[in-house]
Amino acid sequence: MTHIESYWLSLFKDRDEALVTLLLLFISHEVIYFARCIPYWIADMMPSMQKYKIQQKTIQNTAKNQWKVFRYVLISHLFLELPMIVGFHPIAVSFGMAISAVPFPPLSKMIYQIFFFFVFEDFFHYWAHRAFHYGPLYKHIHKLHHEWSAPFGLAAEYAHPVEVIVLGIGTIGGPLLWCYFTHDLHLFTTMTWMTLRLFQAVEAHSGYDFPWSTHNWLPFWSGSEHHDYHHMAFTNNYSTSFRWWDHIFGTNKKYLAYKEKQRSQKMAMAKKEL
Ligand SMILES: [Zn+2]
Ligand SMILES: [Zn+2]
Repeated sequence: MTHIESYWLSLFKDRDEALVTLLLLFISHEVIYFARCIPYWIADMMPSMQKYKIQQKTIQNTAKNQWKVFRYVLISHLFLELPMIVGFHPIAVSFGMAISAVPFPPLSKMIYQIFFFFVFEDFFHYWAHRAFHYGPLYKHIHKLHHEWSAPFGLAAEYAHPVEVIVLGIGTIGGPLLWCYFTHDLHLFTTMTWMTLRLFQAVEAHSGYDFPWSTHNWLPFWSGSEHHDYHHMAFTNNYSTSFRWWDHIFGTNKKYLAYKEKQRSQKMAMAKKEL
């Protein structure tokens, strides 16, 4: 048994499984979400990092705005996401999810299951997000998330409660569906997926495109540069993780034209300097 498996076992030993699951999910969500924002807060304070900021003209990552978003997100976590997490254990158990059992599934199994969750969430999010841009839905629900045309990490979960619930289905729906049909999923795999999903969401809203950012070494990954355009232009790029749906359904045309314009402007500037 590995150290992490024996630690996992000790967490559940002689305790209420539903309560331990609830605490594990909620605390890990809080720690991972806010900790993931820390490197970007540090970057905000470093003048040498400002050249990696995607939008140089619109500055919204001020201390005042971040404090406002921090408070909103914390309240949303406590009064919306926490009750949703309470409902997770009974549903997961009734679908056959392994909770406290060890050993954990082999890494190869975790990888293909998590890949399925990424694909499912991305497809679900693409259509739900596109629907949220429809007139009344945008006006009454999604507009709040678009308060930030130059987003920052914390703004990832700054959204109307209806949006949090609907888009949350994309995150948790994959594991529950998988579990329902295969009865072969572990809570540890689900939590690993949720961690990666949080990493993805905060990175996408970070406002920074570093040379080491994911899409720079994984070209089909959406990343910050893709989603930042969505916030800046209020259109195109509806997906979360992968670029392929926007490409297939033609919702990246304005984005590609913008990138092309940026490229030719850069080339013209370089020529002038020569
Ligand atoms: Zn949007
Ligand atoms: Zn967003």
